[in-house]
Amino acid sequence: MKAKGYRPDELTFLSLLTACSVSGLTDDGWVLFKSMQKDYDLVPQTEHYACMVDLIGRTGDFNEALRFIDEMPLAPSSAIWGSLLRVSRNSNNIEVAEMAAERISEIQHDNTGCYVALCNMYADAGRWDDVFRVRDLMSEKGLRKTDAVSLVELPTKQYSFVNGDMSHAESLVINEESDKLSTIIGENLHERDDVFDPVDRPVMANRHSVRLATVFGLISARIGSPVIVKKNVRVCDDCHDALKKISKFTCREIVISDSSIYHHFCEGSCSCGDYR
Ligand SMILES: [Zn+2]
Ligand SMILES: [Zn+2]
Repeated sequence: MKAKGYRPDELTFLSLLTACSVSGLTDDGWVLFKSMQKDYDLVPQTEHYACMVDLIGRTGDFNEALRFIDEMPLAPSSAIWGSLLRVSRNSNNIEVAEMAAERISEIQHDNTGCYVALCNMYADAGRWDDVFRVRDLMSEKGLRKTDAVSLVELPTKQYSFVNGDMSHAESLVINEESDKLSTIIGENLHERDDVFDPVDRPVMANRHSVRLATVFGLISARIGSPVIVKKNVRVCDDCHDALKKISKFTCREIVISDSSIYHHFCEGSCSCGDYR
């Protein structure tokens, strides 16, 4: 754009900052953030600040991230605290996550995402008392976790799956194929106490909606073609790990867009670099 004489605007910088943040280019991010103000007279909006919180948080320096939020000229919105919650989850920093979740719930009383993220962190740490405490708090407030739905796109139609879905015409075949893949990749299957089907029963990882949608894509789409799945909530760690191995074993590209980012699984790894 500079070479052609186009003037970058707020959106350009948002794309640039997001790219820096996802790629871990902290220094470049800072240069751009300062440049948009100094060289282009643009005023950073809450989205730019949220991006910077993500960028700083990814370095693991939460004191710096909190200082940045403190010094922002805007009142921190739930998007800002959401960024902090996401990075603290990736670094397993429960203390910061609890603080971020509290701020979010003060601003948005009906935000279920922050409670779900906390529950998942407690579950990963084996802190079941805390999982149940947060879950009770959610039901006290009348909040319900969003049911996970995954959509797989085939050339003619898209098909949706919920956790533990048995309503599909090919359900038996899909389950059988999913079991086969689990055995091949050596998956240690166990029920996660934080993933449920629509009637609140815990579901084995290889029956999670994203797995059923992916397996259906693998057996239905043209051989060799990528499998493209959309999911309304974050892919769990077990599925993320399994999908990497499945992409390697099947020699297929698997693209999942979840509630936070795109994952491109190919030859055993994911484009997110396991940073989600
Ligand atoms: Zn899962
Ligand atoms: Zn990923």
